[in-house]
Amino acid sequence: MPSDQMDFFGQLDLFGNYPEPPKAPAVQAQSPDCSANGLVNFKYNPLLKKSIRCKGGVLFGHPEVMLPAYMKAPEFASARELAAEWAEHAVRRKTKKNREIVKDLVTRFWAAVDQIFVDRGDAPLESRGRIPPIKPKGKYHDLNDILAAVNETYFDGALTCRITWSNRVGGLSFHSMRKDPITGEDFHLISISRGYDAANCPKYAVAGVVYHECLHIVIPVEERNGRRIVHGRTFRQRERRYIFFDEWIKWHKEVLPKNIRAMRRHKEL
Ligand SMILES: [Zn+2]
Repeated sequence: MPSDQMDFFGQLDLFGNYPEPPKAPAVQAQSPDCSANGLVNFKYNPLLKKSIRCKGGVLFGHPEVMLPAYMKAPEFASARELAAEWAEHAVRRKTKKNREIVKDLVTRFWAAVDQIFVDRGDAPLESRGRIPPIKPKGKYHDLNDILAAVNETYFDGALTCRITWSNRVGGLSFHSMRKDPITGEDFHLISISRGYDAANCPKYAVAGVVYHECLHIVIPVEERNGRRIVHGRTFRQRERRYIFFDEWIKWHKEVLPKNIRAMRRHKEL
């Protein structure tokens, strides 16, 4: 029996006045078994990796969602809520409007899942376990040239890695480890958001994000109290050594989000 419940019974007085029941802690860990509103049940399947399924009418007309087993981890709580919302719509009549909502929810769900992976310092799911096409030549910028300059200037040319424009519309740049299927060798791959391959993007901004991703190769992720710290103090100090750091950050915060929104609307950058 939990100790707070012991206290509760221990305080029962002889006149039958029940004390206030103990209050639930304000921040309660979300159960991985159902949605926050308790209406959609979650089941987990280790065989699922990149798909989710739903079954209608399980709990008083509410659906049940089958999720990949890794989504049981607490950091996926917000993504699970989107999956629950998705399932509620997916089991309804397929009107045009509902179909659009379902499509939008499933897109948001996988974007949220990828964000969780990237926040953990892992590569997005989409690009794991296989080598994506490596395309460093963009419409406006050649990443190989920029990487070579960054490598020479900041790492004495010692970095060995490959670089590509990311295939994803999500707008994230990231670093991952890949295995060359021919040589079996592991290599670092830097993927840069397409939002940087734009007419309005100066070279110093591309170099800024390339430098940032290069730092992930040389500065290992710190573990502190079981937490993974991807951008620790050492990382932030080294990052500031980039000569156009302020200019890059300004561009990254002010212009990149606009470019990514334009990409989502399939506009030319
Ligand atoms: Zn980073």
